[in-house]
Amino acid sequence: MKVILLGTGTSQGVPVIGCNCEACTSSNPKDKRLRTSAYIETDGQIILIDTSIDFRQQMLKNKLTDVDNVLYTHHHVDHIYGMDDLRMITQKYDKFIGLYGSEKTLDEMKITFRYVFDEQLIKYKSVPLVKFNAIKNEKFRINKTEITPVECMHGNLKIFGYRINNFAYLTDCSAISDEELKKLEGLKVLVINALRIRPHPTHFNLQQAIEISKRVKPKRTCFTHLTHDILHDKINSTLPKGTELAYDGLEFNL
Ligand SMILES: [Zn+2]
Ligand SMILES: [Zn+2]
Ligand SMILES: [Zn+2]
Repeated sequence: MKVILLGTGTSQGVPVIGCNCEACTSSNPKDKRLRTSAYIETDGQIILIDTSIDFRQQMLKNKLTDVDNVLYTHHHVDHIYGMDDLRMITQKYDKFIGLYGSEKTLDEMKITFRYVFDEQLIKYKSVPLVKFNAIKNEKFRINKTEITPVECMHGNLKIFGYRINNFAYLTDCSAISDEELKKLEGLKVLVINALRIRPHPTHFNLQQAIEISKRVKPKRTCFTHLTHDILHDKINSTLPKGTELAYDGLEFNL
């Protein structure tokens, strides 16, 4: 299984428009963060986690050309707005792409993207051809791949992280129950959100994400959904062993 982190930035991305802070003006490529998403190749298929606002740019930058299915964590715009650009893939390969998420996530997306149901537009393939598949908090399969949803709280909103084999991806969490944490035993890689140093009402900060990592004990933990408060090299050098800041393009072969 191959995983590429396509984006590791919080909702406004880094650099932030109009900001002159150290991270926003940094020349380190690891301080340039597109919005969060992950690309996974496994069992002969391509599964994306979220279609970030920067989806088009991410596909081009990583020279990627195809997606078979998308797992959605939740409906916030930084995670879904790139969905329209699946159109180029559904046109090119003349296929439908499966979209998976909680009922709430998909209901919200059906409002945001209501034009994808227009029969005339579907006929001319001028909308992304997608099939909505609502999932519950229980294991399911896409072809041969087993996927375990992991329910987390994002402020008051219930959202999903996902485990596939020995890899798990949790973004936009601010709390996770002991029961859900049990689903994360024996991981090689955990990607988890850590917004910034200061606390935030709807996201783990760095310290809280480190605490989760200590409980889960994956071989490697990478922090994502980072703001411009996080200057990569400066903060990365202070992190506990086995934990690190993620950056755009970080790849895992599992
Ligand atoms: Zn987000
Ligand atoms: Zn800044
Ligand atoms: Zn969110």
